[in-house]
Amino acid sequence: MIRMACHLRNVRPLCPAGGLGVLSDIWIKDGHISSIRPAQDDCAVSPDCAQIDDGEVIDGRGALCLPGLVNTHNHTPLMSVRGMVEDLGFAPAYVPGVPQGHWLSEEETLALARLGVMELMLAGATTIVDYYRKPEALARAATEMGVRAQVGGRVMDADSAALAEGRFEHDRALGAASLRDALDLIEKWDGTARIQTILAPHAPDTCSRPMLKEFARLAQAMGKQVHTHLAQSPLEVDCIRAREGMTPVEFLDDLGLLNADLVAAHCIFLTEEDIARLGRNRVVVAHAPIGNASFGAAAPICALEQAGAQITLCTDTKSADMFEAMRMAIATARWRSGMKMVLDARTVFGWATSGGAAALKGQSASGTLEPGAPADMILLDPSAPNLRPVIDGFGIVAHSGSASNVRSVICEGEVLVEDGRPIRVDPVEVIAEAQQVAERLWQRARG
Ligand SMILES: [Zn+2]
Repeated sequence: MIRMACHLRNVRPLCPAGGLGVLSDIWIKDGHISSIRPAQDDCAVSPDCAQIDDGEVIDGRGALCLPGLVNTHNHTPLMSVRGMVEDLGFAPAYVPGVPQGHWLSEEETLALARLGVMELMLAGATTIVDYYRKPEALARAATEMGVRAQVGGRVMDADSAALAEGRFEHDRALGAASLRDALDLIEKWDGTARIQTILAPHAPDTCSRPMLKEFARLAQAMGKQVHTHLAQSPLEVDCIRAREGMTPVEFLDDLGLLNADLVAAHCIFLTEEDIARLGRNRVVVAHAPIGNASFGAAAPICALEQAGAQITLCTDTKSADMFEAMRMAIATARWRSGMKMVLDARTVFGWATSGGAAALKGQSASGTLEPGAPADMILLDPSAPNLRPVIDGFGIVAHSGSASNVRSVICEGEVLVEDGRPIRVDPVEVIAEAQQVAERLWQRARG
């Protein structure tokens, strides 16, 4: 059953631009915020409220109300290897002896994607980016849960089996098959429900020059953003230097891919000139501080922002906790700068909300709370001790908040999560199915 929120009572809005508001009532109409006013005792005094007969009233009891979070880089089927690969190497695709993406059937991908999208949503994301093989399953999972999603088919022409043994062998047929799935997705799903589609070549090292050249052509022809991994590992940098005689950033520039329509995840192993190039071209960076730190790295995120790159935040399927990502972004930036206070709570809050929304092309979320904005918002637990005291709002959310504080999630005016539980799906079923799939995959991996 789809329930449209009529209004939220007694909430404290926290906006990336406006800061912490007074105790307020927020009215929602036709999927948008119609008004935000200081809290009043009687809902009937609002003309907006009186116009809506069957709307729902949510009493926030003083809860912090944030714009829905925008999580700009994930691969939900990789839930299958979470908790198992983090101590083995830097990315599952490059590690032998773990389940590989190409083993997954459509239904297995769907089961894992349901778990991943549900977790992202419960953690407060109302807009997500998700790309992997079998992309239609990702679109189905996001549609079932109700979040806004930018979905793509992950395309690469490197042979996965060779890759797991550290060799790059490109095969035109492999690339053509994954590209066909990606283009089918765009044709069938673009603009349906809350789904937008993207182009998603995997990385400079796992895609050959002709394959990436084709993506530069497609991006131009279709007006779509290209999401990829960039400067993610020393292995990638060495591979591209040997293969192309330049850095991965120079390589993408050479192909015509370096512009504001490129969303590049990680961006860690960069030269000074790479940083300047990414900035000059207004490239969007999907900053993944949790994943980066887990294998001992930190991206030069402040230098990238100063150079002009657009910074967004993601959890990259490591966890779904964007609060942890905000905190880790600050911690790793300060570590990288030699204990300088280079980044603050307000800035990372902006990356996780309005910055992310503005950087993703073709979707309608704004990452803000203001009349006229799409009604994407989350309520945090008003009785959570870790969220007190609330004085300016940004600090307590970024330095002390947690995904488990998210109690309500509203997307386009629809309540998707209430009291920490998803409305549209049975979480017990979603978890049990994903567990079964993952167990089967690991049995196969262990022979
Ligand atoms: Zn990734």
